[in-house]
Amino acid sequence: MRGGVTMYECVNCGGALRFDIPSQQLHCDHCESDFDPQTYRVNETAGPGSYTMETGPAATYSVCVYTCPNCGGELLTTDESITGFCPYCGSFSVLTKKMREETRPQKIIPFRMTKEDCKKAYKKKTAGMIYTPRKMKDEDALETFRPIYMPFWMYDYNFDGDYKVVGTKEYTQGHYEITEIHQLTGQVNSTCHGVSFDGSSSLDDEISQAVIPYDTEEIKDFQPSYLCGFYADSGDVASQVYQKEADQFAMESLVERLGQEEAYKDFDSVRASGKKPKAEDLSMKKEPAKSVLFPMWFLTYRKGSRVAYSVVNGQTGKVTADLPVDIGRFLIGAVLTAVPIYFLLNLFLAVIPRYLLALSGLPAMVVSAIYMISITTIYKRDFKLEDAGIKSLWTKTRAEEEKKKQEEVEKLFNSAMAGLVILVILWGICIFTEMRLDSALSSLIMIIAAIVMGVSVRSGHRHWNQKRLVNDSYVLLAAIILSRLLLLANPHYDIYYYGGTVFLFAFILYTLIQLIREYNLMTTRPLPQLDRQGGDTSAPV
Ligand SMILES: [Zn+2]
Ligand SMILES: [Zn+2]
Repeated sequence: MRGGVTMYECVNCGGALRFDIPSQQLHCDHCESDFDPQTYRVNETAGPGSYTMETGPAATYSVCVYTCPNCGGELLTTDESITGFCPYCGSFSVLTKKMREETRPQKIIPFRMTKEDCKKAYKKKTAGMIYTPRKMKDEDALETFRPIYMPFWMYDYNFDGDYKVVGTKEYTQGHYEITEIHQLTGQVNSTCHGVSFDGSSSLDDEISQAVIPYDTEEIKDFQPSYLCGFYADSGDVASQVYQKEADQFAMESLVERLGQEEAYKDFDSVRASGKKPKAEDLSMKKEPAKSVLFPMWFLTYRKGSRVAYSVVNGQTGKVTADLPVDIGRFLIGAVLTAVPIYFLLNLFLAVIPRYLLALSGLPAMVVSAIYMISITTIYKRDFKLEDAGIKSLWTKTRAEEEKKKQEEVEKLFNSAMAGLVILVILWGICIFTEMRLDSALSSLIMIIAAIVMGVSVRSGHRHWNQKRLVNDSYVLLAAIILSRLLLLANPHYDIYYYGGTVFLFAFILYTLIQLIREYNLMTTRPLPQLDRQGGDTSAPV
């Protein structure tokens, strides 16, 4: 490898080349020359700009690989100088550099959106989000948007031959509801191209699914020169991981298109002939999965040990953003809404203090159930239990362990639902029997519901580092039980009931603030720990 700043030098003056988004050309800022990225190649022996045509589907190319010492994230680029900022974990540090032979991706969609376009799209999306931390919106922060090509697997399908689907007609004749089921057959000649799934474990499937689709009409043969001034992630997820899902998607979209055919307009619905569509019923032929690079603008916001990502589709400008809530900003908003509610309550709630305390138990139960349900959601997300790409990298024992943990944490969700069901039944009994909410029986039922919920909170503890979060679910449940014990004790003075109500509402407020914290956990992610094997893991298999 030659020295210098870049592997890609201008043939006319030796200046560094960069891929220019508006012109889609390799541009030399020094002498203003432009080169076509499709034909410009580095020849190791004859020097820059000499054409060599030794590419094939399994060919490799030389590229600089920068590795982040904090998270293990890898950035590939043709530039040999890079700023010390890691877009995966948001830390500034000296990235270690190494030349490596990487498997050539087969295709690439070049960036269309410039950084300015990207900032505009992001600002439009976040304009109304008043609780978003100011730091995520200021100009300096937006300057750190990084252009990264993400590896995807692209699956292409041809449908050519006979097809079999089922059409149904439903109508009423006299007193009868009639459903006619018809076997529909015919000839199909159609394609489904560009079904894509992300092939990198550094990118959560959830983010990649939120910024697709990409318009594959603009797809080009990959040339390393597209990386001049840009980064790429190295893929590490095999193409088979998403094969079934991609097949399913392609077949379902074909069945849907068939259903829209003029010939079938008399049918109420057209669906696959089996439970799931089968390749042989639709004459489907698969092409081998292609490795492709899709452009994304990446913004990383780091707070403590968590990161939030905002990602903009580098071709279409579609935005997805993790938007945590600034608790300070939220509290101001909460106080501003609470004041009018307080006055409304004073107007309408001229009820006796004992009943007021009993009534407060209902919102308390609901808030506590919502709290437990969101803990379950955070758990799943933190442990990437819904990311097929990441799960595919786990060993069998790891996968089994994770499954067991998940089942235990799901008990939180189930018990929260059980508590809510008991509450609704109690409410129903009270309404239909004119039993009062402050009666001894309703107090007993509430206490049982709170205990049922509390008991299963324990299971959430065992495997998780967010113990405080789980512990907090006890707090409100304990307050509910205490308030009910107070009702059962039936003290003479009103002051006890007022005191109990204030006490219960204080704990509702506390839990609501914890909920915001949880929401922030949900809208941010743990710092990535990317354990890359390196080498040829992105090879098409
Ligand atoms: Zn030049
Ligand atoms: Zn990092």
